[in-house]
Amino acid sequence: MSEPAPSLHARIASELHAAGRILAVSHVRPDGDAVGALLGFGLSLQAAGKQVQMVLADGVPAGLRHLPSAGFIQRRAKGDFDYAVVLDASDLERTGKALGGRPADLNIDHHVTNLQFARLNLVEPGAVATSAILAEHLPRWGFAIGLEAASALLTGIITDTIGFRTSNMTPAALRLAANLMECGANLPELYRAGLGQKSFEAARYWGAGLTRLQRDGKLIWTTLYLSDRQSVGYNGNDDADLVNFLSSTDGDVVVLFNEQNGGKVKVSWRARPSLDVSELAVQFGGGGHPAAAGAEIPGTVADVQEKVLEVTRAFLAAQAGSLK
Ligand code: 5GP
Ligand code: MN
Repeated sequence: MSEPAPSLHARIASELHAAGRILAVSHVRPDGDAVGALLGFGLSLQAAGKQVQMVLADGVPAGLRHLPSAGFIQRRAKGDFDYAVVLDASDLERTGKALGGRPADLNIDHHVTNLQFARLNLVEPGAVATSAILAEHLPRWGFAIGLEAASALLTGIITDTIGFRTSNMTPAALRLAANLMECGANLPELYRAGLGQKSFEAARYWGAGLTRLQRDGKLIWTTLYLSDRQSVGYNGNDDADLVNFLSSTDGDVVVLFNEQNGGKVKVSWRARPSLDVSELAVQFGGGGHPAAAGAEIPGTVADVQEKVLEVTRAFLAAQAGSLK
């Protein structure tokens, strides 16, 4: 069990104020919340006089490079640190090699599947984004949020809620977004750049996935192959948010298979409200939220598809049975 909230917050605040050289990292295939939380945290602590190195093993994806100071995020930690912070990742493996083998002092996250792997773990599964946790607590811990940090944190909230429309949205989350606007963050511009804008290559990559869309009852799935990235010139190893678009189709569960280098397949599940696909992702060594979860599974696309579709069909059948 973690400690009661008040003493946990007091310890986090005093440890962050005592730290000198901080390493802050987030997860592989970073999304808007990973980059937003990392910049929001890193820039706020830098403004308080801390040395903070921000590291993402996969670097910043093209679609998030508009964020101010994103260019300071590195792919590898360099130098010595006295404090290590992991943001928006529910297990250590998700960070890639960003920590370089160092133990994590502090983990701030909002995944229900979090393994509490750090010395101090602030995990709020009710929070819409790790960026929302930071928007709420950084000022309480004594770290002011400036314009650039606010823009990053608002981007994390916008992207993780797909524009304030996921089923976990709350009035409190909207108030945090409003606070960030009051710090100067430009909501319409960040919304457009973080969520609305797609590169030409990303649109063609979507096209490859959309032509392969399949359906079996309430289950919808598609596949992106490594060869698709090459043929359309898409540089990322993510799905360019295709699965979030597919979550607005009429399936109960949507699954996206994204072939990765090294004989692995990244699987993303999305579910309609009231279903919990995080338990499926956990079965395959991954994690996430009830409505959005993922896992990286070794094997060929065909093998992984067979196993994942079988388990997901059984999950849907069990749901249908329990409603009878
Ligand atoms: P996505 O499928 O869009 O990558 O991720 C959906 C949700 O599941 C996100 O909250 C993400 O952090 C989580 N997630 C995705 N892949 C993994 C994984 O391999 N391991 C864990 N622990 N969580 C994952
Ligand atoms: Mn997140």
